[in-house]
Amino acid sequence: MSQKTNVLKVLALVVLSVGITTSSFAKEKVYKLKLATTWGTSASPLIDAAKNMAKYANEMSNGRLSIKVDSSNKHKSPFGVFDMVKGGQYDIAHSTSYFWKGKDINTLPFTTMPFGMTAPEQYAWFYHGGGLNLMQKAYKKHGMLSFPGGNTGVQMGGWFRKEINSVEDLKGLKMRIPGFAGEIMAKHGVLVTNIAPGELYTSLERGTIDALEWVGPSMDITMGFHKIAPYYYTGWHEPGAETQFLVNIKKMNKLPKDLQKILTLSMKLAAFDMYTQNYHMSALAWDKMLKEYPGIKVKSLPKEVMHSLKKVNDELLAKITKDNPFVKEILDSQNAYMKKAREWTKISDYLYIKDNL
Ligand code: CA
Repeated sequence: MSQKTNVLKVLALVVLSVGITTSSFAKEKVYKLKLATTWGTSASPLIDAAKNMAKYANEMSNGRLSIKVDSSNKHKSPFGVFDMVKGGQYDIAHSTSYFWKGKDINTLPFTTMPFGMTAPEQYAWFYHGGGLNLMQKAYKKHGMLSFPGGNTGVQMGGWFRKEINSVEDLKGLKMRIPGFAGEIMAKHGVLVTNIAPGELYTSLERGTIDALEWVGPSMDITMGFHKIAPYYYTGWHEPGAETQFLVNIKKMNKLPKDLQKILTLSMKLAAFDMYTQNYHMSALAWDKMLKEYPGIKVKSLPKEVMHSLKKVNDELLAKITKDNPFVKEILDSQNAYMKKAREWTKISDYLYIKDNL
């Protein structure tokens, strides 16, 4: 046999084996999952976390995991995603844990707590301080898993049309501030209102409300609040709001082990991406806002007001934990972790910035 024939034979084998490999990949089963978001199509960076996750899962699995993302524009039920994943109509959701406190109070602490941890502190708690285990324990009875889904960082205290100089100034103030922070404000005589996002700008402009909180520069800029309210207060109520991926446990268990791993890693990666994307968006948005509206005044609530908010926060939490031992376990874990982590934050990030201003 000539050398040339041998080479041709080898080449033929290579071509044949490549052909077999390709066709065996093509025959592999594609697992199709459906994901519902609480957010609409334009709610960047929240919606991007879900889309990026689906993209990573598809790419890393070589097409074997195919996740269809439906925004709330499609499924029309932003706050129905918990029940839809629990009931199996959807396999995954991208949303936020504290939305479900009315269904199950144990879900409250997994987003952010007033006066609680910052995003890096909280991520350390989730991944290294036992937080993720506590979150899975909370969602198990609903047949779901929950994973961090991306963080907004410190949320701003909100846009105010008038200055707050004392606790007295809060009395009668009409403000949009949802959730647990709204309850704290209500205890201070604030008239807490719940207005649809699309009507917030007009309500603030016309004085139907005096103040509102939204997120931070990244998402506030498109709402335009900076054009009509001169005071931008610093945050206290959502120091590191974490979104979540909710996954139906049965659907997760039906996936082959490698795809379970790919899905979990895709969620972790998409969460990190949202955190950095939001930071970037806020940096650019704040720069733009200040250039266009140099009169914006950044304010912190006076110490007296902060102390009062914190006192009421502690009182409300004491009431909740009295009747709910598992919430107490979660909050105790967070507070113990924060106590340690904060000492490090103080001598690292805090002093570094303070000493280099
Ligand atoms: Ca907010």
